Amino acid sequence: VARAAPPRFATAAEALHTVFGYESFRGEQGEIIGQVAAGGDAIVLMPTGGGKSLCYQIPALLREGTGIVISPLIALMHDQVDALLAVGVRAAYLNSTQDAGERARVERAYVEGELDLLYIAPERLNSEASKRFLERGTIALFAIDEAHCVSQWGHDFRPDYLSLGDLAERWPDVPRIALTATATEATHREIADRLHLESARHFVSSFDRPNIQYRIVSKNEPRKQLLDFIRTEHPNDAGIVYALSRATTEKTAEFLRANGLNALAYHAGLDAGLRMRTQSRFLREDGVIVVATIAFGMGIDKPDVRFVAHIDLPKSVEGYYQETGRAGRDGEPSTAWLAYGLQDVVQQRRMIDQSPGDIAHRRRQSAHLDAMLALCETVECRRVNLLSYFGQPSTACGNCDTCLNPPVSWDGTVPAQKMLSTIVRLKRERNQSFGAGQIVDILRGKTTPRTEQWGHERLATWGIGADLSDQQWRGVARQLLAQGLLAAVGEYGTLSLTDASTEVLSGARTVALRNEPERSTSRSSGRSA
Ligand code: ADP
Ligand code: ZN
Repeated sequence: VARAAPPRFATAAEALHTVFGYESFRGEQGEIIGQVAAGGDAIVLMPTGGGKSLCYQIPALLREGTGIVISPLIALMHDQVDALLAVGVRAAYLNSTQDAGERARVERAYVEGELDLLYIAPERLNSEASKRFLERGTIALFAIDEAHCVSQWGHDFRPDYLSLGDLAERWPDVPRIALTATATEATHREIADRLHLESARHFVSSFDRPNIQYRIVSKNEPRKQLLDFIRTEHPNDAGIVYALSRATTEKTAEFLRANGLNALAYHAGLDAGLRMRTQSRFLREDGVIVVATIAFGMGIDKPDVRFVAHIDLPKSVEGYYQETGRAGRDGEPSTAWLAYGLQDVVQQRRMIDQSPGDIAHRRRQSAHLDAMLALCETVECRRVNLLSYFGQPSTACGNCDTCLNPPVSWDGTVPAQKMLSTIVRLKRERNQSFGAGQIVDILRGKTTPRTEQWGHERLATWGIGADLSDQQWRGVARQLLAQGLLAAVGEYGTLSLTDASTEVLSGARTVALRNEPERSTSRSSGRSA
């Protein structure tokens, strides 16, 4: 017999105290819960750790019926449901990891009104059978978690989310709440459009995380730099180190362990049992460092993560913000540290060029990368840059590397012209192209087997850049790439000009560059010809 789960509490405050044991609402939680409990729709933009879950869990306890939570993270459903059961909320999930018997039990409980909350994966709502099943019970609300996944412009698009727009038509009287921790203006608009949340109230929290200190350094020896950073600033702290490749996570964890740190690798290629053990050691032991691909961290609620380090450039500002947001949920001072270099730009531009999607897809990825590069190369406050990306104006924070140690920008037009004309001449005179390393050697007049092999000492631009160091030249190349004044093409990242670089060569455009602090370990690599 179909029955509806009756309301469990009369007021939101009662549910907050009794079930979750909290004193008061945080930020806009109270208003959001009021809106949804009264049957209205809501769009909630709140940073990681802001407390989004209560915004749908409590309304589900106040309304008749079951709250349906749509979440793409199957791995997390289990944890969330366990946590709810532990505090007496009748919760369950339906996903592909269950056998038929388990599923049938959950389905029966739903239809008979024995569930306050039911978590399901978005792909289930694509099927007519699942929708018909849901119609057999009473729905208190729909909560669409990670709602940015509906955005084709976003960094985490999931096609299954598109069909969630139909919920409005099928269940016009059921309130819907869409939640996300990543929200540019464009994503925000897309969530409203595609999920048919035209009449929803919008709740936009500040995305500032004042206790996180943002720092971006130029990368030369990433592992050593990372080790120095951890040793000097976070010797016994828990932290997450992000890298792009599985191999890098393993090598880096090994290197940190060899240097006496408690570091573990984590990526999707490791066996599930090992991943579970790593995650639980990170949560339970003190001072564990996990070196991971982005597969790690979603939904991990560890309040005292003291640092998040990136040793490879994240692909988007959204991703960077989400990953760094895992630091300092307890509000205590924490560090977001990123090392980034020329190779990152070369590699990511190449990955975009070779990516299988259509042109529009590549353009989106390029736009994401450009925004990330702009954050890395800014001479202004990192936080101002970050928040303005999310459409939130702010003033210089005084707690990021550029505020604490303002970088000097200098007129790099002449060095840029030297570099660009070296590339042009190689192409015109010899039909050759090279990666940044060879170009820098030519500019500095540094004889190597490769410059001898190609007779590059005879080029007119040989040695015209001896006034700058190796590292400074690599900084010039990196920044020209970041500014779109150079392109890196092909498997080897050979440098070529862009339309904009001709303006620099002709003198029609000047180039502002960020000063590269000299690294202490720089080897002398003077002119040896
Ligand atoms: P999000 O989903 O936005 O990342 P969560 O819902 O997981 O955030 O909440 C983050 C943490 O804050 C959790 O540990 C949660 O229990 C806690 N929290 C949420 N709301 C409150 C509140 N009103 N008072 C105290 N702690 C809260
Ligand atoms: Zn700042």
